[in-house]
Amino acid sequence: MAEKLRFAFWWAASCGGCDVAVLDIHEKILDVAKLADIYLWPVAMDFKYRDLEALPDGFLDVAFFNGAVRNSEQEHMARLLRRKAKTLVAFGSCACFGGIPSLANLFDREEILDWVYRGTYSTENPAGILPQPSFAAPEGELTLPRFFSGAFRLEDFVPVDYFLPGCPPTPEWILRAVEAIASGQLPPRGAVLALDKTVCDTCPRQKSDKKVKEFRRHHEIIPDPERCLLEQGLICMGPATRGGCGALCPGANMPCRGCYGPTREVVDQGAKMLSAVASILDSDDEEEIRLALGRIEDPVGTFWRFGMAASLLGGRAFDAGSAAPAGSRSPVGATATATSAAAGVETASASGSSPVAGGGKR
Ligand code: SF4
Ligand code: SF4
Repeated sequence: MAEKLRFAFWWAASCGGCDVAVLDIHEKILDVAKLADIYLWPVAMDFKYRDLEALPDGFLDVAFFNGAVRNSEQEHMARLLRRKAKTLVAFGSCACFGGIPSLANLFDREEILDWVYRGTYSTENPAGILPQPSFAAPEGELTLPRFFSGAFRLEDFVPVDYFLPGCPPTPEWILRAVEAIASGQLPPRGAVLALDKTVCDTCPRQKSDKKVKEFRRHHEIIPDPERCLLEQGLICMGPATRGGCGALCPGANMPCRGCYGPTREVVDQGAKMLSAVASILDSDDEEEIRLALGRIEDPVGTFWRFGMAASLLGGRAFDAGSAAPAGSRSPVGATATATSAAAGVETASASGSSPVAGGGKR
């Protein structure tokens, strides 16, 4: 029997959903177990950092990294796994684009710490003590990871070989990725393991002339199950979102939330969706337009829900001196940053012969 592959799974600033998604492949996990030994998977088994550190560089075949990078421990693990693994996969939209954790980039670090440790109604902290990166205890120095100024993508720290988007990635694409790894038929490095079409391109709903007078929230109507949801006034992110999920949400009469991130041509998913919204509004009247747009609840959280860290906005612009301005946010305390482009990741588009072909370079 051929030598088994060596896999690692790691979670950083993550909800755990991506780890659960690995189990969503159900009994196929037994095929994965036949194919590969798992050397690291903290959600499922105990391990020690020193065991990982002791492995020779390049020992692991693939490391799947989920979650955004929000603190110095997560940065350390990103760098360590990059060294230990031949192939590093950004697994899930948090690792690919910052995901939902990067919506916290709308707040600065001090605001977040203040709210979490002093402000919430369930917090009992009369002395107002905040976590310290270092504390001198009688037993010796205790340390905590440094909390960065924002949530970042994996590729903000280390070169990433493949991007497997989704919140979480679907079982179909997880399996396709594993099969491609096993057969050595991966597309060129830097590819996104998903379709290079929009969700709209794969959505079976009837599309006619997209013109709407007003936007509505999902609970306010019972949508027609056949017609395009955007044409019914629901903000559906399909026009700005990469396909690959099988249009699952529109299939369940729910608008697409945008979790697969933008397609290759789109620089900023939220901006693309804003442009789509502007083009379907059926009015030339300024006041009518203002009222219609005013009905969109939480526009930033709607249009940039999964990709604030990857967006042109980057986060909220803070007052001078309080934090980095939008677009130039940098990891406080990070040793260095390296985008995949800067680190020389190949830029060729996906190969048509691969079982995961179609994604293309980001
Ligand atoms: S991509 Fe979604 S499922 Fe995965 S860790 Fe982030 S929030 Fe959770
Ligand atoms: S906007 Fe939404 S509902 Fe309409 S075609 Fe696109 S994905 Fe389907």
